Amino acid sequence: MWFRPEPESPPTAGLPLGLADMGGAVPAPLTALAAQWLGVDEAQLECSGTAALTVALTALADHARARREVVIPAFTCPLVPLAIRRAGLQVRLVDLRAGHFDMDPDRLDDACGDQTLAIIPTHLGGRVADVAHANAVARAVGAFVVEDAAQALGARIDGAAAGTHGDVGFFSLAAGKGLSIFEGGLLVARDATVRDSIRRASRRIAGWHPGWELRRTLELAGYAAFYRPRGLGVAYGGPLRRALGRGDLLGAAGEHFDANFPLHRVGRWRRAVGARAFHRLPRFIETTAAQARARVPALASIPGVHVFTDDGGTWPYLMLLLPDEATRDAVLQRLWASRHGVARMFVHALPDYPYLGTMAGSEDVPAARDFAARTLTVTNSPWLDDACFEHVCAVIEATIVSR
Ligand SMILES: *Cc1c(COP(=O)(O)O)cnc(C)c1O
Repeated sequence: MWFRPEPESPPTAGLPLGLADMGGAVPAPLTALAAQWLGVDEAQLECSGTAALTVALTALADHARARREVVIPAFTCPLVPLAIRRAGLQVRLVDLRAGHFDMDPDRLDDACGDQTLAIIPTHLGGRVADVAHANAVARAVGAFVVEDAAQALGARIDGAAAGTHGDVGFFSLAAGKGLSIFEGGLLVARDATVRDSIRRASRRIAGWHPGWELRRTLELAGYAAFYRPRGLGVAYGGPLRRALGRGDLLGAAGEHFDANFPLHRVGRWRRAVGARAFHRLPRFIETTAAQARARVPALASIPGVHVFTDDGGTWPYLMLLLPDEATRDAVLQRLWASRHGVARMFVHALPDYPYLGTMAGSEDVPAARDFAARTLTVTNSPWLDDACFEHVCAVIEATIVSR
């Protein structure tokens, strides 16, 4: 062949789709399979994790009309504040615990009151957040807890699925986030009344848009075709390296998000693809968890590197904290454009995305900025073989040692 792209690892361990997922019998509806696996009565499907959050908040706002604020960590996916605003609500940022992705518990206490509609504890990169504390604060002020489990489908906290410990939980089915239908989101809620209003809110704000569904259908077919080592060099690596070449960090991280994100119903074919692939997910999570456990020690033994771990989480990637920003940037200088699945998580703390504008709490988020400056991620895709993983470790170690 005249053109044979180099193999490339994706930045996260997504479940690869196969030809057999594209057609044939459907074991059960995707939402039923997800509900059963998560251990809940029902799950609802939306067209993205962001759409799921928008629908959930729209519904919760009807339950507590005087409450307009949604409290989120100051370092999370920039789509989260966009969803809050799309639901007609206001964002309140809470700074992180030093050196951690979770909200600082004292600052969370201070941020909440009778204006608070919901608190969003956020599981990042499969690592579980402190939902228990968010629940306690929410109970004290009369707010809801919405667990952002976008990156944690399949993670468990004390034996029960992450996403089912608060009032509402949502999961992303976006490209690269575990199980994918290219864009999708699952939504679960503890209380049957809340589930009813979430269903109604979805009918109200996320109707049929055949144009969007057609586009997503083609994108999902493309994803299934290209999500393999040689396809990723073309579909992911090429655009990544072009963005880095332009110095476009948000483009490289895929964070040029639009406040006018689509809200629409997911069509039958994409739901069927997700349902057919679903049975492979538990096994895939086991395999990737085993790989992560085997690889954490090598990274954690590098002086100055902190690797986030826990018992029940999933492992899309390994999340690392480096000693300082200059070292982190020096590592990325060598590895982000390589084909080894090393990347930034979110480029900025939320106040530093120009397109998000101003948000309450923006003025005081030093820990979130520090976290954004010092983190990087190493893919946990099974396609990153041991030799490449060892190369990544060696580059990180050499960079730290040389500084
Ligand atoms: C990706 C992500 C979202 C949004 O999910 P989409 O399916 O991409 O809309 C929300 N929160 C976090 C933490 C995410 O990583």
